[in-house]
Amino acid sequence: MNKRIFLKLSTAILSGFSGARLFGRAPDEPASDGKLTNWAGNYQYGTDNLHPFTSIEEVRKFVKEHDSLKVLGTRHCFNGIADSAHALISLKPMDQVVALDAKARTVTVEAGMSYGQLCPYLHEKGFALHNLASLPHISIAGACATATHGSGINNGNLATAVSALELITANGDVLTLSREKGGDTFLGAVVNLGALGVVTRVTLDLQPTFMMRQDVYENLPLAQVTDHYESIVSSGYSVSLFTDWQNKRINEVWVKRRVEKGDAPDAQPEFHDAKLATKNLHPIADLSAENCTEQMGVPGPWYERLPHFRMGFTPSSGEELQSEYFVSRQNAVEAILAIERLRDQVSPHLLISELRTVDADQLWMSPCHKRPSLAIHFTWKPDWDSVRKVLPTIEKELAPYQARPHWGKLFTMEPAQLQSRYERLPEFRNLIEEHDPHGKFRNEFLNKTLGK
Ligand SMILES: Cc1cc2nc3c(=O)[nH]c(=O)nc-3n(C[C@H](O)[C@H](O)[C@H](O)COP(=O)(O)OP(=O)(O)OC[C@H]3O[C@@H](n4cnc5c(N)ncnc54)[C@H](O)[C@@H]3O)c2cc1C
Repeated sequence: MNKRIFLKLSTAILSGFSGARLFGRAPDEPASDGKLTNWAGNYQYGTDNLHPFTSIEEVRKFVKEHDSLKVLGTRHCFNGIADSAHALISLKPMDQVVALDAKARTVTVEAGMSYGQLCPYLHEKGFALHNLASLPHISIAGACATATHGSGINNGNLATAVSALELITANGDVLTLSREKGGDTFLGAVVNLGALGVVTRVTLDLQPTFMMRQDVYENLPLAQVTDHYESIVSSGYSVSLFTDWQNKRINEVWVKRRVEKGDAPDAQPEFHDAKLATKNLHPIADLSAENCTEQMGVPGPWYERLPHFRMGFTPSSGEELQSEYFVSRQNAVEAILAIERLRDQVSPHLLISELRTVDADQLWMSPCHKRPSLAIHFTWKPDWDSVRKVLPTIEKELAPYQARPHWGKLFTMEPAQLQSRYERLPEFRNLIEEHDPHGKFRNEFLNKTLGK
């Protein structure tokens, strides 16, 4: 097991990091000091007081009896959004399918379940979700709380599949909201940032299961992206562009397509002057592709092609930080060129960038609220001191496009600026006030980013 780099946070005042103390250990290694950290090990939670629960009644009782707590999902956020100085609860033992409604095409799951647990079950029953993130290891409730997304011009983020949810509010009441009957409140509650209560059950839309293939192309000239952006991102069900911003090229294009009867078995050898890869690749070309999902056009179930990383392996590079910004797709090319101009500042600290598209939605706190979006992602080397210096420059360059940061990743944007980019934030604050009047589920991150 790799030893994690221990880095000291010098001025821990930036969004997401206020309250953090040290970068930490590998998440699946027991810490020598017994401290609890997030997946990346860069964020140490404010308490080790972690309570796992096995039933809704236990959760209700705990919520009623405590003044301040947060829920931990699978700990994949890079900032303090899930943190508590007092008590953390885990619903991980609550990870069962509650109901599969084949007629309505929905599945209801307990909130501790991860996509990796759910997907093989759904496939076996003949169903699929519309999309997945780069990895299946994350909890469904935690992913939807932060509007986690995959790629695809017609694919909304993962939270757009939520058709109902059940949550325990601050006084211990059970609140059930659905798309059909929940009206505006439902639209405010799905991407909830963990601020409205403890989600105990989630219902997701399904579709018939499908097979997919992914083909990877290498060295796509940047000029092709600027000239043919829409055609490139529309070339598959889900398309990801990986770049290190060097040499005016996209290093790898991952095109994920649904396999339909009568499709040509072979992929085109060229794609906008990029060449078809002849072996499986990792998004960071130097790393082994062993932990990546199957490529080379080999058909497989949707849940083994939509994520980049396979269940059962450490996803991504393992030692990293992440940031991501969403801009309107109509500004995609300008925004890409704006970051490309920063290449000499960005690249030294970067492992890889990924460009994905996400469809617009109506969820109040979604970064894709009313905007078909381009998501510009950065996987950074685990050196926060350097990363926190480059983020303000990126945020300044993307400011003309009203960029919204990913809720679960690292950003330094001033709260006032961030708040101005969410037109439904006043209503979301009202929703919090209604369901959590004494701030039981608030923490430093939420106080700072959402304001009062
Ligand atoms: C390697 C890696 C790859 C990633 N890839 C992607 C990607 O492809 N696309 C993308 O958009 N993001 C990606 N992310 C970010 C990740 O998906 C989000 O941070 C997501 O929120 C993680 O879910 P979690 O359960 O681990 O959340 P946690 O960090 O545990 O919690 C996130 C938030 O959800 C809340 N929460 C969790 N469970 C509940 C519950 N039951 N009730 C109420 N609130 C709850 C927490 O309180 C917190 O506010 C990636 C992260 C990593 C580490």
